[in-house]
Amino acid sequence: MSTTKQVHLAERIANMDESQTLEMAKKSRELKAQGIDIINLNLGEPDFKTPAHICEAAKQAVDDGYFFYTPVTGLAELRQAIADKLKRDNQLDWKAENIIVSTGAKQSIANVMLSLVNPGEEVIIFAPYWVSYKGIVQLAEGEPNILSGKAENDYKVTAEQLREAISPKTKVVIFSSPCNPTGALFSESELRAIAEVIAENEQVYVIADEIYEYINFEGEHFSIGSIEAIKDRVITINGFSKGFAMTGWRVGYAAADLAIVKACDKIQGQVTSGTNAIAQRAAFVAISSDLQATHDMTAVYRKRADLIKGLLDNIEGFKTNTPQGAFYIFPDVSAFFGKQTPNGERIDNDMDFCMYLLNEAHVSTVAGGAFGEPNCLRISFAASDEHIKEAAKRIAEAVSKLK
Ligand code: PMP
Ligand code: GLU
Repeated sequence: MSTTKQVHLAERIANMDESQTLEMAKKSRELKAQGIDIINLNLGEPDFKTPAHICEAAKQAVDDGYFFYTPVTGLAELRQAIADKLKRDNQLDWKAENIIVSTGAKQSIANVMLSLVNPGEEVIIFAPYWVSYKGIVQLAEGEPNILSGKAENDYKVTAEQLREAISPKTKVVIFSSPCNPTGALFSESELRAIAEVIAENEQVYVIADEIYEYINFEGEHFSIGSIEAIKDRVITINGFSKGFAMTGWRVGYAAADLAIVKACDKIQGQVTSGTNAIAQRAAFVAISSDLQATHDMTAVYRKRADLIKGLLDNIEGFKTNTPQGAFYIFPDVSAFFGKQTPNGERIDNDMDFCMYLLNEAHVSTVAGGAFGEPNCLRISFAASDEHIKEAAKRIAEAVSKLK
């Protein structure tokens, strides 16, 4: 039964933005259900199946009877394997007790934000940012301070910008590298310069979201948490959704100072308990095995990055960036603002353009404003070459009708 009675919801919900990535996914699902042939380039979700050895581990976990609650912070062997991985790949010196496994990296970020931020305290979010950072800060009743990277610096915030923005009110700085939505990578020297600013501000914590670590087209990944001067104040977030094509399994983690892990444990213990036991066993095998399947998927994403950039560069009005990682391209589409559609409607902004592509080209993307950059459009290339080519053809046709 649905009702129309007015419900007095809490202000924290009214003050929180909706996840626009999930919103666009919902819209295109609805159109698909009506029989419309939509090409989905909206959600950031690998189109690959989870590698077979990981699936086998889940089947084995069922046979082995992993039916029960795990410790809230995760299975001991998984936490140890994560600590080992962080030492091996990221030069992070955390023990198993410094790791908390959660229901996706999304929950890890929410746990940490709720653990650190008091109402009214400021969180600097590098923009363009992943949609949920802002929503999570709002949920924690913190003050988002959006700090925008410049297009000419591949939309990356610089240390100088951070130095200007940071203040005694700042409690947390959050960003992702490789970046969702731009695919940009922060280099070691850029991260060292940022770390210097953090070192000068002793009350500030960094949430380093490294969920796209393995989807890197340039080479070495560098973790800001390995920098000696600030390593106690860096919370490293990572997970299994992207590198292992495991979005639906819901396993992510945070690595941090023990007090922060204990705070997350307290929250998680009251809200969700440990994440799915079977998925944790699968994640354990994923992280303990060789990474060939991950590297193979990354090689495919790299080719697709070139493919989509080349195709969009041929469409007048698209000003593309060059993704160095993740699976998004983030073109500036402001050249289309002010144009008229064949129906005589005006494209005023990113959302209008995104909706025009959905309705006219049947290609679903996400408007850049959702990520704090309203001149752009986020296009996911976690899709087959055929879909990418067909989408580019349809987009070219649709924009050629704009006057
Ligand atoms: N951080 C970023 C930058 C992401 O793109 C995503 C994608 N969903 C997440 C965190 C959350 O991932 P998970 O599926 O592990 O919750
Ligand atoms: N992270 C993905 C994205 O940015 C998945 C959707 C979400 O969790 O918001 O599209």
